[in-house]
Amino acid sequence: MTRPTPPTNATLDPEDWDATAELAHRMIDFAIAHLRDVRMRPVWQPMPDPIRAGFKTGLPEAPQPLDAVFEEMQARVFPWAMGNNHPRFWGWYMGAGCFTGALADFLAAIDGSNLGSGDTAASKVDEQVTDWLRQILGFPQGASGTLVNGGSMANLIGLTAARNAMAGTDLRKNGVADMPVPLRFYASDQVHACHLKAMNLLGLGSRAIRLAGTDMAYRMDVDALQAAIAADRAKGAKPACVIATAGTTNTGAIDPLPAIADLCRDEGLWLHIDGCVGALFAIAPENRDLVTGIERADSLALDLHKGLHAPFDVGCALLRDARLHRATFDESAEYLQLASRGIAAAEHLHRYSPETTRSFRALKLWMMIKHHGVETFGRILDRNIAQARHLTRLIVAEHELALLAPTASTIVCFRHDPGGMDEAALRAHNTEVMLRLQESGLAVLTDTTIRGQHCLRVAICNHRTRSEDLDLLVGEVLRIGKEITSTAADI
Ligand SMILES: *Cc1c(COP(=O)(O)O)cnc(C)c1O
Repeated sequence: MTRPTPPTNATLDPEDWDATAELAHRMIDFAIAHLRDVRMRPVWQPMPDPIRAGFKTGLPEAPQPLDAVFEEMQARVFPWAMGNNHPRFWGWYMGAGCFTGALADFLAAIDGSNLGSGDTAASKVDEQVTDWLRQILGFPQGASGTLVNGGSMANLIGLTAARNAMAGTDLRKNGVADMPVPLRFYASDQVHACHLKAMNLLGLGSRAIRLAGTDMAYRMDVDALQAAIAADRAKGAKPACVIATAGTTNTGAIDPLPAIADLCRDEGLWLHIDGCVGALFAIAPENRDLVTGIERADSLALDLHKGLHAPFDVGCALLRDARLHRATFDESAEYLQLASRGIAAAEHLHRYSPETTRSFRALKLWMMIKHHGVETFGRILDRNIAQARHLTRLIVAEHELALLAPTASTIVCFRHDPGGMDEAALRAHNTEVMLRLQESGLAVLTDTTIRGQHCLRVAICNHRTRSEDLDLLVGEVLRIGKEITSTAADI
């Protein structure tokens, strides 16, 4: 069978808008039902081999009807999603998404603006959302910000500005080879791996970060930090920047921000705060004190697809000094000139970012924040913190469960420890508990290792989680743990 060749005057628009509207409405109905019924489905399920193999088929040269593509997508993609929109997803650290944000992402694509430059309402939305975030975090008027795809990029932007400001040469022009003395960055041993990636990209190498120790609650030890700074100065290196973490990925610990800010002020260091987990606690009425001092950062990274549940992906870098922010990234080009009138008569937002083309990710934040109000997001964060404390109490009350780190915010680290197992056996046992939980579809949690101890890690960044879900989790961990030890005993 030969297919008709597409007409050479074809556009990408539908030939029949009415039929496409009908199909688009079906897609919306499907999406709504999917989200409405999310609690009834398994959180996650293993992908069968035939489904996996189905993604290795050849390149589609010829067109096919969109409804067939939609059918295929429904059958083969959605059932094997990550499941982070499910109330019992607590893996890594992810937001749960939200429908308003999803609608906004669709509408942003329809608006179609590129927010790198141009005088558009879309770029005004971007500027307004960034300014709201500035206000939320207590940064001064005139501070700048840029929306990016996530926390890693937001951290990279802050660290790049720090490097350039502290380099002792016009780094943008001369490069790292021209730095008179090597720069040193400082962070706790709990710092997120994206900072090591950033050091690599910045040409400084991960050895430029000195890792200070942490206290019993996994917060940066400020005395150790101070000693490391003094030791580097004595060796002729240049202490440049402290990376404090407001909410570590391992345990949710919050570094002592006011003490670190004082030290940076006294020592003349740049303060960068990684607030991907915790910066938004600033809007949580009952817990905003956890991040007192965050407003003193020179640069701050936050993740809106975590604590605000914007659909992936969106993060934000805020910089105290807009001039330094621009000096880090601004490059002019003859084809990117400002005009006094017309479409190019607006500030180029690409001056604040390594990106040139910028998506309209601001629209989802703008619509979500208007629709729900900042208060609602704050209350959800308070609720997640209260749920983490509730789970902590349940764990402490069970003699077969051990809490492995103090619960500082939204992350709980624990393990099943029925007694008589060494560290290696506990690791194997708890890994099996985690995998059976995941494969059962009942809950998703992930694991980590802190100070050599393996643990299950529950990260509650989820507006759909109820405390009964955590009660169920504890029951299941105990049940699966017993099931494993009793079959092992049978052998
Ligand atoms: C998640 C996270 C990051 C990375 O953010 P992405 O949005 O995944 O790029 C960085 N730091 C911390 C503390 C995080 O929790």
